[in-house]
Amino acid sequence: MATMESLIGLVNRIQRACTALGDYGGGDQAFSSLWDALPSVAVVGGQSSGKSSVLESIVGRDFLPRGSGIVTRRPLVLQLQKTENGQDYAEFGHIPRRRFTDFALVRKEIEDETDRITGKSKQISPVPIHLSIYSQNVVNLTLIDLPGLTKVAIDGQPESIVQDIENMVRTYVEKPNCIILAISPANQDIATSDAIKLAKEVDASGERTFGVLTKLDLMDKGTNAIDVLEGRAYRLQHPWVGVVNRSQADINKNVDMIIARRKEREYFASSPDYGHLASKMGSEYLAKLLSRHLESVIRARIPSITSLINKSIDELESELDHLGRPIAVDAGAQLYTILELCRAFDRIFKEHLDGGRPGGDRIYGVFDNQLPAALRKLPFDRHLSMQNVRKIVSEADGYQPHLIAPEQGYRRLIEGSLNYFRGPAEASVDAVHFVLKELVRKSMAECQELKRFPTLQSTIVGAANESLERFRDESKKTVIRLVDMESSYLTVDFFRKLPQEVEKIGNPGGGNPRENPRESAAVGVDRYAEGHFRRIGSNVSSYVNMISETMRNSIPKAVVYCQVKEAKQNLLNYFYTQIGRKEGKQLAELLDEDPALMERRQQASKRLELYKKARDEVDSVSWAR
Ligand code: GDP
Ligand code: MG
Repeated sequence: MATMESLIGLVNRIQRACTALGDYGGGDQAFSSLWDALPSVAVVGGQSSGKSSVLESIVGRDFLPRGSGIVTRRPLVLQLQKTENGQDYAEFGHIPRRRFTDFALVRKEIEDETDRITGKSKQISPVPIHLSIYSQNVVNLTLIDLPGLTKVAIDGQPESIVQDIENMVRTYVEKPNCIILAISPANQDIATSDAIKLAKEVDASGERTFGVLTKLDLMDKGTNAIDVLEGRAYRLQHPWVGVVNRSQADINKNVDMIIARRKEREYFASSPDYGHLASKMGSEYLAKLLSRHLESVIRARIPSITSLINKSIDELESELDHLGRPIAVDAGAQLYTILELCRAFDRIFKEHLDGGRPGGDRIYGVFDNQLPAALRKLPFDRHLSMQNVRKIVSEADGYQPHLIAPEQGYRRLIEGSLNYFRGPAEASVDAVHFVLKELVRKSMAECQELKRFPTLQSTIVGAANESLERFRDESKKTVIRLVDMESSYLTVDFFRKLPQEVEKIGNPGGGNPRENPRESAAVGVDRYAEGHFRRIGSNVSSYVNMISETMRNSIPKAVVYCQVKEAKQNLLNYFYTQIGRKEGKQLAELLDEDPALMERRQQASKRLELYKKARDEVDSVSWAR
């Protein structure tokens, strides 16, 4: 029945995948709950009741440590996977990708792996061992072998072991999806069966308990187990199954499993007591019974499994969105990714400038507060003090004092004053530069897409800052030029007004002093008096104030033109031309991710892939109905 196989195979595959990812019992909540939603079969019974033997005969291979005393000391999660052809092999969860074809080595590895956790003592551990067996001769089943229930602690065991074992077994069998294979030996009274006792506790209605009676061949002569097998001694929802496993002597003689199965069949066929039940006895029948039961259980579970899977897929998808998808491997796609990321960053940066995000207003703050304040603070009072004016004008006059207006003196005074504008001009450039730099930093911090690429982050920031440096240099040159331009040509209007004032001051008659040397000598005294220089100072001052007003308007224009607009339009242009020339390896280096993040994404996408596969399989089996 293909559907049945695929259903159980599906569960097996999901469980195996859970195991492969090492998530069962580990961190992944969804996996654990998916695992718990899937049915499993656990073998429960007293020590040496024949649990491991029953499992082996269901599998049809020798591979479990068996014998007297406490042999099974860790849970063994055994996944049987039917194959179409090829050699039988086994794989352990703790040694992925190593195929065991020698089943004696499988047994050895179970023993060794048990000891690895528990030490060579007779201690137990609840940490399961995962084993998958691939064979043509198995039905798809997941079985769990558990340590046997005991009554007393023996030598070398802690007192608590009796309770510890029971608790461990209980955690498996109390799960509502656990099918209990309750093993009782026929050579003991069923009323003393530990298996039945525990099963009754966790599954009172008996709907998930299968009673298995072992060691039928070891019953006292003259007794039989018909009452138990026919359900009269202890009633269960499912029929009891009797089995005959290999005795210790058979095991010691290495009796082949195939032969053992045949002997078991013969035992029932020829048994005077159980002959009439022969078709419903034996390990092979038990395997089929379990498999059939599992199928119906899984069928009923499909809707809840589907919704669990879908929920996990949604969660993983959103986690991956958050972490960012894996990066492409070819250079073209990588370049595309890098450019996309640059654009994402650039977009945020522009939003800061344009006011969609805060920060751009600080540039206006520079123009509106810092610059005017700096201009106001320029030491013109000192520069145009009477003493300084006299000094500069006299120096400019040289050996011959000026006659009408000290033109040279004016020029020097004005040039000297205008030079002071360089300071605030450059300071504005720098201030805006730092605002832009801060916005680059901020935009990077806000760029979610780039979070996973620390190398690219610092490269972009580096490139952006380099551009900003260039814009700053350009901007400085421009504002200095503005200042220089002002001093290179003085507005004529201003000078035109000067002679009138000179006449007003120095020559009330209105005539040209040159025409009248006597008068000229008379005003000469006045001309070199303090008032004269004060007036010159105040003339220069009003000219400088006029220029200051101009500067207050033109410096922001230059700064915006050279820095802000450039940053907005061409911040990463230089980087783009550089990156276009890079090779695949260099691009990959730029997309170097935080290793922890990479690991998390890898885990998540592996899991996602697995869930999707699981969903496809669930879909295919549920449609095949
Ligand atoms: P476990 O402790 O419950 O796993 O029991 P084992 O499977 O290790 O079996 C304990 C001992 O009982 C081994 O020596 C087996 O050979 C033996 N044994 C188990 N089942 C049968 C059976 O049906 N008939 C006989 N003769 N011996 C059995
Ligand atoms: Mg055992």
